[in-house]
Amino acid sequence: MTMNNDLPIFDGHNDALQSIYRPKNGQPRPFFERTDQGHTDLPRMLEGGYGGGFFAVFVPSGKPEEGFPGADAKSGKAAYELSLPPAIELAQAQPVTMQGVASLFRLEAESEGRIKVIRTVDELIHCLQNQVIALVLHFEGAEAIDPELDALHVFYQAGLRSLGLAWSRPNVFAHGVPFRFPHSPDTGPGLTGAGRELVKTCNRLGIMIDLAHITEKGFWDTAGITAAPLVVTHAGVHALCPSTRNLTDRQIDAVGESGGVIGINFHVGFLREDGLLKADTPLSQIVRHIDYVAQRIGIEHVALGSDFDGAIMPQELGDAAGMPKLINCLRDQGYDHDALRKVTHANWVRVLGKTWQ
Ligand SMILES: [Zn+2]
Repeated sequence: MTMNNDLPIFDGHNDALQSIYRPKNGQPRPFFERTDQGHTDLPRMLEGGYGGGFFAVFVPSGKPEEGFPGADAKSGKAAYELSLPPAIELAQAQPVTMQGVASLFRLEAESEGRIKVIRTVDELIHCLQNQVIALVLHFEGAEAIDPELDALHVFYQAGLRSLGLAWSRPNVFAHGVPFRFPHSPDTGPGLTGAGRELVKTCNRLGIMIDLAHITEKGFWDTAGITAAPLVVTHAGVHALCPSTRNLTDRQIDAVGESGGVIGINFHVGFLREDGLLKADTPLSQIVRHIDYVAQRIGIEHVALGSDFDGAIMPQELGDAAGMPKLINCLRDQGYDHDALRKVTHANWVRVLGKTWQ
């Protein structure tokens, strides 16, 4: 039993799978043993009071990674403008995606019932009540989906329940934002014709659409046609940190009006007003973004989207095991048990219930 057992954390985003199916040094990181590598493994999730979350399958760009997006404290660079990586071909994306999906199901098989890849809200609730870690199969970008959507139907049957229309690069459906600071998220075109069909088909199948990383035009195009609540799994508030990855007030309002949810990203470069990559960023910076969304559109529309294993965390938090520190910080700021229940998991349960039905 963990100290936050009555407040299981359901996390909008992590990149833990990548260190298993695309390890940087060729050596997959253990998931069932506690290590200090990366931010997430099962023991640290349990220590942190986790109930589960979205596990992302991601196809890296062909060239070496550019590193973490953020202004550089060492060079004192207060602004940055990374170029947009090129689109990735379907033939390149599908085998990598297959590896990612397989890695998730292998973890489930090896877990002896401790983790479960969930497909329905009933399964999610059952897991949260029975200390089984509930994982949602999520694609961060639609590169592995063909424009005819054959792969979407196949991956849905395999368990895909959440799809980011674009990562920060173009694809045949949508365009992602380049990492820029300070800059508006209005950086390029919206949905293509195929993108509109993808949104409608996700609605019909019951696949949640994630609007993290998409251009502002793509956000509004989706908002205009989707039947589901708007969801942004890992982002922040543009008024507090003017990164392309953060949401304008109008976007935040639209999420609220749709009954949706925003998972607040913990990446220091998307939290700080100056955009600097400083790990000594205090936890109060995460609280600042949560407060802003809660005050603007209501506590029903704010959740957590850590970006563990894909970003630079405030060192005070450290990793998944540090989540009780954030919960305590929120409690100190006046968040009562009911508010914490909503932020940690209940808002996700509500939105997934509306989306997956
Ligand atoms: Zn991301």
